[in-house]
Amino acid sequence: MSFADSKNLETVFFAVWTLVFAGLLIFWQVASPEARRKAQPYAVTFTGLVVLLFAWLQDGDRGFFFTLVPVVIIVGLNIIALKTCRRCGAATRINIILPTVKSCAHCGHELESAQHKPAGGDRTRPVP
Ligand SMILES: [Zn+2]
Repeated sequence: MSFADSKNLETVFFAVWTLVFAGLLIFWQVASPEARRKAQPYAVTFTGLVVLLFAWLQDGDRGFFFTLVPVVIIVGLNIIALKTCRRCGAATRINIILPTVKSCAHCGHELESAQHKPAGGDRTRPVP
């Protein structure tokens, strides 16, 4: 593929990643916590697709399939293990092996209201 051999690919690579990074950074600053929570799986999936696209542009089918399994694992783990708080919008990573996190590490708000069972006191703490 002549496009992959040219310097154009490097330019497109840096331009696209700069736009993706800046776009997500700006969105994360201005979006509401609920919008961040809803957009997080799509943003992670989109970023994974951009990685796969550049792997394919750089090395064809071999690059695509070499990158496919790690990208699917990383995107899946990000969707499963990263929960965004409904109140403050902060992302909290859940440890899948050990007991899961029930409240936001940033503000203390509970992350999954459907599974909340109050046992022995209030788990949320007031916002300072
Ligand atoms: Zn929070």
